[in-house]
Amino acid sequence: MKAPEIIRPDSYWQKQDEIIGKEALATLQLEHLTKSLRRVYSNVPFYHTRFDEAGLDPENIKSLEDIRRLSFTTSDDLRANYPFGLLAVSKDEVVRVHTSSGTTGRAKAICFSKNDIECSATLIARCLVMTGTGKGDILQNMMTYGLFTGALIMHYGAEKVGALVIPAGPGNTERQIQLMRDFGTTVIHITPSYSLYLASALQQKGIDPRKDLNLRRAYLGAEPYSEETRKKIEAIYGIDVYNSYGLTEMSGPGVAFECGYKNGMHLWEDHFFAEIIDPETGEVLEDGQEGELVLTSLRREAMPLIRYRTRDITKIITGVCECGRTHRRISRILGRSDDMFVVKGVNVFPQQIEQVLMGIKGVAQNYQILLESYDHLTIRVEIAKELFDGNIEHLLQLQTEITDKVRADILVKPKIELLEPGALPVSEGKAKRVIDNRTM
Ligand SMILES: [Zn+2]
Repeated sequence: MKAPEIIRPDSYWQKQDEIIGKEALATLQLEHLTKSLRRVYSNVPFYHTRFDEAGLDPENIKSLEDIRRLSFTTSDDLRANYPFGLLAVSKDEVVRVHTSSGTTGRAKAICFSKNDIECSATLIARCLVMTGTGKGDILQNMMTYGLFTGALIMHYGAEKVGALVIPAGPGNTERQIQLMRDFGTTVIHITPSYSLYLASALQQKGIDPRKDLNLRRAYLGAEPYSEETRKKIEAIYGIDVYNSYGLTEMSGPGVAFECGYKNGMHLWEDHFFAEIIDPETGEVLEDGQEGELVLTSLRREAMPLIRYRTRDITKIITGVCECGRTHRRISRILGRSDDMFVVKGVNVFPQQIEQVLMGIKGVAQNYQILLESYDHLTIRVEIAKELFDGNIEHLLQLQTEITDKVRADILVKPKIELLEPGALPVSEGKAKRVIDNRTM
């Protein structure tokens, strides 16, 4: 395989600590962490109490590990302190608020100072430059503009690197296609599920994205997806797809991002201190072990969060990336500890099922997991049109193949329903893959 080109232009945001030795990084992290802890101790009653309870004096932090004495900050803490309870600056310093919606309960409000916005944009700029986007690129931003950070922060970062940004937002597929053709879009920022939906819409119009569009790369985020799905999208569009990771609570998108080697996402450790924990016990795990990502923001002004439980399941990839960047990498998000469901006593992430489905020939893009009881699961799978119209024998073979492969992976035998393409509801935003009709 040809090694991807390492893009490292001499631009100011690249010089900011991107290539940094391990010791220098630890020193830098400790310096920023200490400042941040002092600020929250003085300004945020919630953290003041936490420090006192742990017997931790922010004037006396000796190492990064000292924060392990503090308990975790959770999304419930954010909700309980909604909207301004966790502010570490005066309200006058806040220039923007984003909320992070949960499917249940109160929203979480995340406040940004002017400098926080600048930091977030700078981080995304770093990610874009790393993957080759810059002046001359036309970036069609199909994420939701609004209370969600995904689109706005990407927008700011893309402008920073000199790309032309089309603030399309999600949905309205006809118009998306028109914009892509009229402006010669080279980069798209999109959810995985919408990129698949868009691909089938293009196909229906007789547009071959490989030949008839000008696309070079896509940034996928906002929902977890499998490596198989990435390969599928790359093949359909004839582009490079880069995985990105972010969350509003930290800075928006661009907390971690893939380089040209597409072998895990570099987590920008000069801005975030990462730990991986066992989601059940809270114990800190070694690099290489799978668990929940816990992040501490090192440079945020308005609302620094200490040991924030992201609920995202991943692991630190051991070893140094071939690109030479020293920031450690996290693996693609396996799922959210919230999304995980239990069937027959087995923990299952929807992405495990997706990974299996997308590797089976004849399976189309859309699927749904239906939970009706605690010992049974049904997977509804759309299959290729020609198969659906074809021989019943082939359908039965496919059904058996899917059943066996899913069972081999998740250790529970699913019931498989094959559907014709278009039978399942399509999403123009985040896909809802799991329908849980179970009652406690
Ligand atoms: Zn790399």
